[in-house]
Order: sequence, then structure tokens, then C-alpha cells
Amino acid sequence: MGARRQLGRIRRLVVKVGSGLITTPEAGPDRRRIAALAADLAAVRADKVDTVLVSSGAIATGMARLALPRRPRSMPETQAAAAVGQSALMRHYETAFKRHGVSVGQVLLTAQDIGDRARYLNARNTLLALLGFGVLPIVNENDTVATEEIKVGDNDNLSALVASLIEADLLVLLTDVEGLYTANPATNPDARKLDTVEAITEDVTRLVWAGAGAGSVGGMATKLQAAQKAATAGVPMIIASGRTEHVLARLLHGEPLGTYFAPRADRLGARKRWIAFAVAPQGRLTVDAGAVRALTLGGKSLLPSGVVKVEGDFAAGEVVAVCDEVDGREFARGLVNFDAPELLRIRGAKTREIEPRLGYKSFEEVIHRDNLVIL
Ligand code: GLU
Repeated sequence: MGARRQLGRIRRLVVKVGSGLITTPEAGPDRRRIAALAADLAAVRADKVDTVLVSSGAIATGMARLALPRRPRSMPETQAAAAVGQSALMRHYETAFKRHGVSVGQVLLTAQDIGDRARYLNARNTLLALLGFGVLPIVNENDTVATEEIKVGDNDNLSALVASLIEADLLVLLTDVEGLYTANPATNPDARKLDTVEAITEDVTRLVWAGAGAGSVGGMATKLQAAQKAATAGVPMIIASGRTEHVLARLLHGEPLGTYFAPRADRLGARKRWIAFAVAPQGRLTVDAGAVRALTLGGKSLLPSGVVKVEGDFAAGEVVAVCDEVDGREFARGLVNFDAPELLRIRGAKTREIEPRLGYKSFEEVIHRDNLVIL
């Protein structure tokens, strides 16, 4: 509860709304719900909180406009629905926010915009410039062009990336449930809402139950992934019901609504956050138990001697996943100093053997600890 009291002091907020909240299967955008959201957000903004809205609902709106009874199965049809829906959705937002004197700006992102360091910084600068102009940026994934393999895929994760990108003080996921429950509240009368989650342990992930509706993508699973990303970025996150009146204003006044996810105290720096989440790893290094210990407990760099397996075709300077030999689990990520063929030659080697094996002088570390993130 103490942590929630800090929420009164936040200056930069990211709010994500799900499709289920702001659209209906028949009509698409739910005017009433959007009007309530606009009023709530406008009040928060009037309190000098810079706000970014991440809104789903393009596909659901497009489905309603095109009178599609269910989510299209093919990618081009889904993308077409998103194209129709996104513009209609923005028009609704524009009208709703205009009533409060708030201008909106549409920002459509793809995973590549976040995965490429230069584009990442560019997206950040654009969002900050919009906030500087007093505009409310409304973000969605660029569903019309992004194909399945290169998608973030859901706006829960996207909103956490955006919160990390602009170094928000709080991320709020508004959905149609009150928070994270100990069981599915729709079927289990003993289900209890959690007030605070200090850390996303296995016990917490076990609570996930599928709650996604027809038009939406994310259930609790993607919300917990988002919580994990936000926590690592040092951003507190709240899952709350968007059906609660003035939910945002009340949260910022410290009312114990929803479920609060505490951030990690050791907030990662901007570059490490990018290494950890923004970019998909280009390869995979499996390391022995000694290396796992040295990296996770000793805060050491990864040396060639600890590497047992090298997979993928990565170049030096790219991000690779670091996995535990015992269970194959990815426990770290980092920028690698060698390309894959070099690393295959020096895998398992002692430091003094690196130069003779490669035939030239090079780095001592496979991943320097400054470029390594423990997940
Ligand atoms: N980008 C999708 C849309 O606007 C939604 C993704 C999600 O619901 O997480 O329709």
C-alpha cells in the first residue's frame, strides 16, 4: 500500500485500453466508454501528468465495420480489418478528446521500430515531442504492415515497451476485470483479487487463466509478460477495470483499485533495457553451471570457457540469449563481442587460448558485464 501512495507524484503515465473495453462486437467503438475514458484521461492530464494512450481495437472495429462475424483467419484480411478500424477508431478518439480541448496524435509502431536502436530513439523522440506540444499520443501496433513473425503481437507487451521507451513512472492496463485474481472469478466463488504483487514468481504466473474475448488478443498471460517488462524497466504497473468510474484519477489518488505490480529496485539503464526487451535475440549461447553462477551471483562477464553451445548466425555486436545448460532456460541477454563462427572456434577456451585459436588478438569476454542483463 505504501508504494501506491507514491502514485500521486507521477509525472509520466502510459495507459493501455483493451479492445474488449472500448468496442462492442456489433457497433465497433463504444462511444460511451470512449467518452468516459477521455474524461478520465483529460482530468489526469490537467493535473500535469504527461500521458500516452496505447489503444487496441483497430481489428475489432474493422470487424464491425466490415460485418465480419469472427476474427479473420488470414493475415491480409486481418490487416485489412485493422486498416478500416484504425482510422475509424482514431476519429472516435479525436471527437471524444476534442470535447476536453485535447489534441491527439496517432503513432503506429512495429516491433522493428523498437528493435532497431536508431528507430527506437527516433520513436522515443517523436513521442516526447508530441508530449512537448501538449498532444496526447495514441499508440497502436502497425497491424496493417507488420507480419506475424515480426509483430510484438499484443498491446499489453507493446504498452510495456512504450512505458520503458519514454521512461514512464506508471503503466496502467485497463481491462474488463478488476485485477489479478487467485482463480478465475467468473467460475470460482473463492477467487480473491490480489492488491499487490511484489515480484512475478512462479506462484504468480500459475494464476494465469485465459480470459480473452473474440476481438482481443491478450489475456492475463500477456499482462504478466508486460508486468515483467515494466518491473525490469523500473516502471510500476497496475491492472485495473476500465469499467470503474474515474479509475485513472482514483488510482493516482492512491485508491487501492486493481492489482499493483511493484517495479524492480535495481532499475536498468536505458541501454540495458533495450538489450533486455526491445530486440529479438539473434542467437543463443548455452553456458555451464560455473558461468551461470558467475553471471547471476558474481556480476561477472561471460568468458569463452563457460560457453558450451553456440546456436544461430549472429554478428558481433548483436543481442544473444544466454541459456542455462541444465534446463535450457534463458536467464540473461547481452551484446556479444564475437560473431558465431568465431565463437564456435573459441567455445570452452581459456583466456590465453583465444588468440592462438583465432589467429589474432581480440576480446577476452564473450559478453562484457556492462552489456549483459540478467532476466
Ligand atoms: N493491435 C490490435 C488492434 O488494435 C490489438 C492487439 C491487442 O489487443 O493486444 O486491434
